[in-house]
Amino acid sequence: MTWHDIIQLHVAGAQGQGAGKQKGLVGLRWTDVPETLRILADRMRVSLDAAFPVELSPAWRGARAIAAVAGGRGSRIRLGGALARSLSADALDGVMAHELAHLKCRHWELLLSGCILAALGGVALGLALDLPTALRMAAGGLVPVVAAASLSWMAEYEADRVAARYVGYDVMALTLRELRDSGFRTRAEFTHPPDGSRVRRLLSAGAGAPPRD
Ligand SMILES: [Zn+2]
Repeated sequence: MTWHDIIQLHVAGAQGQGAGKQKGLVGLRWTDVPETLRILADRMRVSLDAAFPVELSPAWRGARAIAAVAGGRGSRIRLGGALARSLSADALDGVMAHELAHLKCRHWELLLSGCILAALGGVALGLALDLPTALRMAAGGLVPVVAAASLSWMAEYEADRVAARYVGYDVMALTLRELRDSGFRTRAEFTHPPDGSRVRRLLSAGAGAPPRD
């Protein structure tokens, strides 16, 4: 089965069973997802949850990687049905590779440690400035906010580059163009650069890139 078959099956099933189910997550087992996901995860050396590697959110227009927690469930990818239905099969491979790249690069750890350090830096800055208290608090509070946004954007660009090494720059560029053309993220957001910017960054990185792994 392809991703589109799987999504159609689960979204149609969810609609048939009422709106409550449609909003809920559908856990997909390894036998429910295309074999290409296991091959890609193996090549990228990312281990996903043994029981439910993917959870489908039928009405959601997005995708994200969820890292494993100690003693809890393994890492998994949450895929929005509304996003998946608007993309081609190749672009869905690109989306999966991007989410696997977040796990491979341990971006959640980078964001967490970066934000803690930035919060401490903000406190130190607030204490060091010779300004009225309100201004010191504003300046100190700005540091972790700017750091979180910067780190998150860096992680997005890096995930695109790492994904491209496994699925190819052509597939990754196609993925980002389809996202951009579908109006997925036309403007910069706090955690994500706009898709147009991601396409340009990827193409400039791909110009001198080595062949895929
Ligand atoms: Zn991402």
